[in-house]
Amino acid sequence: MKIICVGRNYVEHIEELNNNKPDSPVLFLKPETSLIHKKQPFFIPSFSNEIHHEIEIIVQINRLGKSIATQYSHKYYDKIGLGIDFTARDLQLKLKNKGMPWEKSKAFDGSALIGSWVNKNEIDDLDNIDFYLKKNEKIVQRGNTSNMLWKIDELVSEISNFFTLKIGDVIFTGTPAGVGKVNENDILVGFLNKKECFSIKIK
Ligand code: ZN
Repeated sequence: MKIICVGRNYVEHIEELNNNKPDSPVLFLKPETSLIHKKQPFFIPSFSNEIHHEIEIIVQINRLGKSIATQYSHKYYDKIGLGIDFTARDLQLKLKNKGMPWEKSKAFDGSALIGSWVNKNEIDDLDNIDFYLKKNEKIVQRGNTSNMLWKIDELVSEISNFFTLKIGDVIFTGTPAGVGKVNENDILVGFLNKKECFSIKIK
C-alpha cells in the first residue's frame, strides 16, 4: 500500500506556515515503512528537534482506480478515519528553502499514524466532519472538512490522475491550523465527530 498526502488544504493552516494558496492540491507520498504499528508509540527521531503533529481526516481506497471523475470518486472509498502526519518541521523548512523534496521530513519511519476506521455510510455528511486533537487532555487542533479547499471527492479524482489508486491505499487529506511541537511523554488523542479514533504516546 501507499499513502498519498495532501498539503495546504486548509486556509488557516496555509497562513500559519506563511505559505501561498496553491492552484491545485499539493501532493506527496509516504511509503509503507512510515506506518506506526498498532499500540506502538511515536519515537522522536534523532535528526529532528521539532516534530509537529498534523491531525488529518484519512480515507481508505477499496477499489482500483485511475483518472477517476469527481462524480464517481465516492465509489472508490468506503472508510473514513483520523491520522497524524508527523512532520520534522525544522528539516522540512531547510529542505523547502533549498527547493529540495520534503521526503526526509515527511516520509520517515513512523511518520504516519492511522487510527480506527469508520464506515463511510455511518457518517451523515462527509463535507461536515468535525475532528480534533487533544495533547495531554487539552485540545490543540480542531478542524471541519467543510473548510477544505478541495473536498474528499475532488482529492480522489485529482490524485488518481497522477497515481493509480489501489485497494488499501490511504489518503491523508491535509491538516487544519494548530500544528505544534510534540515532546517526550506527550499523549495525543484524536476524535472524529466526538468518537475517539486513536491514542498515542510520544517517546
Ligand atoms: Zn499533513
